[in-house]
Amino acid sequence: MKIVMLGAPGAGKGTQAKMLAAKYRIPHISTGDIFRANIKEGTELGRKAKEYMDQGQLVPDSLTLDLIMDRFSKPDCANGYVLDGFPRTIPQAEALTAALKAKGEKVDFAINVDVPDENIINRMSGRRCCLKCGGTFHVKYNPPKTEGICDFCDAELVIRDDDKPEIVKKRLVAYHDQTQPLIDYYEKEGALRNVDGTVDVEVVFDSIVKILEA
Ligand code: AMP
Repeated sequence: MKIVMLGAPGAGKGTQAKMLAAKYRIPHISTGDIFRANIKEGTELGRKAKEYMDQGQLVPDSLTLDLIMDRFSKPDCANGYVLDGFPRTIPQAEALTAALKAKGEKVDFAINVDVPDENIINRMSGRRCCLKCGGTFHVKYNPPKTEGICDFCDAELVIRDDDKPEIVKKRLVAYHDQTQPLIDYYEKEGALRNVDGTVDVEVVFDSIVKILEA
């Protein structure tokens, strides 16, 4: 099963993507996590990506596509995957469609986790993330068991640099300009399904599972 998660930054698509990956035993592929891992390791890719990420801008398609196509070639992708944060532009979506078509495959579901903008800024200010394992939490909506500590690997939780309010506003502009058109793209492909992302994490998850298993 190949699933694309759509939604504004902070809509909760990463949390849902991880839960889906665990339930269906398929990899969770987050381009944001891959970029952050590269930044942490000090690679050339990380250095280039950071320049854009720190400004709330998207990393250029050329860098992103090389990275993701390499990831798709790994054996754990054979039974599908949940894509979180990719595609984020129409050219990325077209590249994904073309790469899959060449193998006689397609995106099965594009799940749009719908949260209005006014909720996003509020949500982002409570977001905490683990730079060690990629775990994400929210102080109110999805709190860790121990305040400030990752449930999965016991590392300290931090506020991501690009979750600061002034950068979040820029990320929302990038989302509306470059990523929201993907909703129409996947609607035309017949893969789009909308879920209300304003309700509890478990309720959102149940509605996605119902869609996948309908
Ligand atoms: P995320 O963790 O998905 O919110 O991504 C964090 C940041 O990484 C984004 O604001 C972008 O700067 C960059 N990024 C992640 N995925 C992509 C992508 N598919 N295309 C371009 N930039 C991306």
